[in-house]
Amino acid sequence: MAVSVFQESLTAADIKAKARDLGADLVGIADSSEINANPPDPDDPRIPANISDYDADRVIVLAKRLSAGVTRIPRWDERHKYYNDELTMTTLEEIALELVLWLEAKGWPALIVPPTHVDPWRYRGDPDEPMKPLLSLDHCAVEAGLGTLGLNLQLLTPEYGPRVMLAGVLCSAPVACDDRMETALCMGPECGRCLRTCPGDVVGHWTRDWAGCDKFRAPHGFHHLTDFMDRMLDAEPAQQKSMLRSEETFDLWQSILRGAGAITGCRRCQDVCPVGADFERMIGDSLDDMPEDSEEKRARLAGYAETEAAGAMPEGYDAQKRWIGRFA
Ligand code: SF4
Ligand code: SF4
Repeated sequence: MAVSVFQESLTAADIKAKARDLGADLVGIADSSEINANPPDPDDPRIPANISDYDADRVIVLAKRLSAGVTRIPRWDERHKYYNDELTMTTLEEIALELVLWLEAKGWPALIVPPTHVDPWRYRGDPDEPMKPLLSLDHCAVEAGLGTLGLNLQLLTPEYGPRVMLAGVLCSAPVACDDRMETALCMGPECGRCLRTCPGDVVGHWTRDWAGCDKFRAPHGFHHLTDFMDRMLDAEPAQQKSMLRSEETFDLWQSILRGAGAITGCRRCQDVCPVGADFERMIGDSLDDMPEDSEEKRARLAGYAETEAAGAMPEGYDAQKRWIGRFA
């Protein structure tokens, strides 16, 4: 018997109301055919059609805001922050799972695309290769009308700026999709706070060195673990013992235990971004001091701004303008 016999009629408003009821702060629905036709990275397309043949017509994008208290802690490598963010991620995953179960109770098979899941077949043991998730949820969120991308290609939302975590739910319920925002939320190099604060200096002109960023946003992730074990295998026995009981092992153990420092890590660029209604209300007064800022970074930003004022947008912008948006 066809699955469709058991399917209840559903609207986009039903799905959004349920997601909000479950605790999502933002929810949008993207048409997967748009993402399939416009892969954010054409050289390495990661699209909904690759994940499911049957249940991927829509990407329901859920967002949970990051807590403001830890955003106001200025150190990028603050463990308390990693831990709080990991709890946000856990909550978001639970919301996504409950939404999947609710959709399925109504006859619509669904599946979760977590923000951190990397396809192991893609891993080639190269520390300079970024760990890419199955779908870029930041791009899906733009397709779902939740915001636009910023100078370092982070998602910006009108409500919380970039201070959200995202999860995706794939489902083929034929509900209405949201429209993309056409106007950029980012203020570009004239602002440049994400670049000025970046501890890895990996933000470019509408680009980001993702492999460089991984060393900060997942400081105790897989690369750190394999590098540490490599060093330990090569060390003398006496040194191996002290490495075993080091702070480094503790960090790795806690990351394996809870994901803190592996699926969460640096988010300074998210903290300091002035976009979002939450910034002035909860955060702004605490983040003007940016120890990672420098004259050299400011000069670079001034150069970017000059280039744009002369009407020459860089390659990075051209490649991503669908998701960055137009400037008013
Ligand atoms: S997460 Fe950290 S390292 Fe990566 S771009 Fe943002 S500030 Fe830079
Ligand atoms: S910090 Fe400024 S430049 Fe960076 S994404 Fe936010 S608005 Fe854009």
